[in-house]
Amino acid sequence: MRRGLSFPSWTTALLSLLPLSAGAVNIVIDYTYDTASLFDSTAKATLAQAASDLSTALGNTPLAALSTNSYTGTTPGASATAIWNLTFTNPSTGTTISLPAPQTSPGFPVSEIRIYAGWQNLTGSVLGTGSPGGASASLGVSYTNEAALPVAVNNLENISNTAMGRGDGPVIGAISGAFNGNTQPDVPFTLEYGAFVGSLWFDSDTNNDNVTDMPATLETAWNLGMNQPSAGQSDLYSTALHEIMHAVGFGTSDTWSTLSDPRIAGSHLASGTTGARLSDGVMQEAVMTSSVTVGTRKELTTVDLDFLGKLGYNVVPEPAAAGLLAMVGSLLLMRRRRR
Ligand SMILES: [Zn+2]
Repeated sequence: MRRGLSFPSWTTALLSLLPLSAGAVNIVIDYTYDTASLFDSTAKATLAQAASDLSTALGNTPLAALSTNSYTGTTPGASATAIWNLTFTNPSTGTTISLPAPQTSPGFPVSEIRIYAGWQNLTGSVLGTGSPGGASASLGVSYTNEAALPVAVNNLENISNTAMGRGDGPVIGAISGAFNGNTQPDVPFTLEYGAFVGSLWFDSDTNNDNVTDMPATLETAWNLGMNQPSAGQSDLYSTALHEIMHAVGFGTSDTWSTLSDPRIAGSHLASGTTGARLSDGVMQEAVMTSSVTVGTRKELTTVDLDFLGKLGYNVVPEPAAAGLLAMVGSLLLMRRRRR
């Protein structure tokens, strides 16, 4: 007897989770769904730099690899299975794309977060949008002893949450519900998933005329490179950093919604929240307030990292501390030389 949703036939389910291994987070920008093709080599290099800078900041956060999208909890007399798909927003069209998890062969790579980039005509002064992917699952239970079902479902939760939660990092979302009981009470479940995929897109209608900009118009409005923006230009690097952070759970995850901090304003940090810039220690408004001043650049600050840490990422020590250590080291070296 079996009950549940779109449950495929199966006799055995193999679980072969790859072990967690430590490693630097690897944020990959993916242009597969960029149909506007407005990223030139300069813009792609800028996105790669933003992804690299954030990957470095997220440091040694082990995010588990996936080798299967099918997880089964068993106990004598009952079993429960979840078969997952990863979903994300097509960055060019806004439609939802659904792929089996893992969507790449031989599996979803350890510590990788894949962000799909594109352009859309956005209204007003909106520069970009970023969001993490979601997930869906086909769920089903099978039993000869319905009273054993709660144990099987609990085992499924443990196995699936360990794998699909990726170990570290934020819980992006969860699928909750209950398997309907036949002769026994309903069995509730909560199946969580972590950061795997996401999307971001930038404004390709900077003059708001409802037509996608020609490259010359786009390159006047956007500073696509790593040089500082000129007066009147919006900065692609600043915007990419901001939207990638949304795509990895900042302001957008279940874990975020559990945080309580006076500096939080919705899915952002409150306007005017400042931290020390990682590159030089100068105070700057955080990347994750809701706006950036035209003609200026934002870089990652200590307060941005502070909140990434609250999301479960093992952020690297702030460079100010590293700089201090380096100074101490060089002083010691000088003393040795004096001897
Ligand atoms: Zn934002």
